[in-house]
Amino acid sequence: MRLRNVKGSRETIAANDYVVHTPEEQKGKWSEVFGNKNPIHIEVGMGKGKFITELARQNPDINYVGIEKYSSVLIRALEKTDALETPPENLRFVRMDAENICNMFAEHEVDRIYLNFSDPWPKDRHAKRRLTSTTYLGRYDKILKPEGHVEFKTDNKDLFQFSLEQVEPAGWHLDAFTWDLHHDETLNQGNVMTEYEQKFSSMGNPICKLIVSR
Ligand code: SAM
Repeated sequence: MRLRNVKGSRETIAANDYVVHTPEEQKGKWSEVFGNKNPIHIEVGMGKGKFITELARQNPDINYVGIEKYSSVLIRALEKTDALETPPENLRFVRMDAENICNMFAEHEVDRIYLNFSDPWPKDRHAKRRLTSTTYLGRYDKILKPEGHVEFKTDNKDLFQFSLEQVEPAGWHLDAFTWDLHHDETLNQGNVMTEYEQKFSSMGNPICKLIVSR
């Protein structure tokens, strides 16, 4: 998802209190950003932020950080948060390429990582850019607590198969998976739909989900 040329988006983002503008400076100090020591859950590639904003509203005792690469997309999430009567205090946004995620979190600082409908990067030569590749799992390994886990949803079967195949070589463990989340009574419990999930499931596409840990 990339919305092009949203006029003034960089300026609007710069003035927004929900955005952490110097995430590298918060490395190891995210509890200070939130003013408490609650667990930190992050979504990488959060898009317009529906999923993470809803989770933040449901779980006030968990801190949430949404990471998005493009200003033109992030600004849509900010518009939604600003429009809420009581925006959640346990939510922050960062505009950053997740390639650099180890620069913004210290070792074991993150409790859970969500990846939702990540870009498929279909060409083989771009496989390392996929957010579920062994390259990215190696990055998550550094920032995630030992007992932490990664949750991934997609409707893209090729990307899902690729992701399943990355788990073992990365030294991770496959805790659970389904090729049809919305018909899986256990894994679908408490499921919060993302924007893409709503769109693709309304078109009849089954949603796949996996959960991995070390
Ligand atoms: N997670 C949302 C959902 O499920 O509705 C959005 C899915 S959209 C297909 C993927 C999003 O991930 C886009 O907004 C894209 O800009 C963002 N993204 C892709 N690669 C990224 C990266 N390396 N770092 C941060 N964000 C990234």
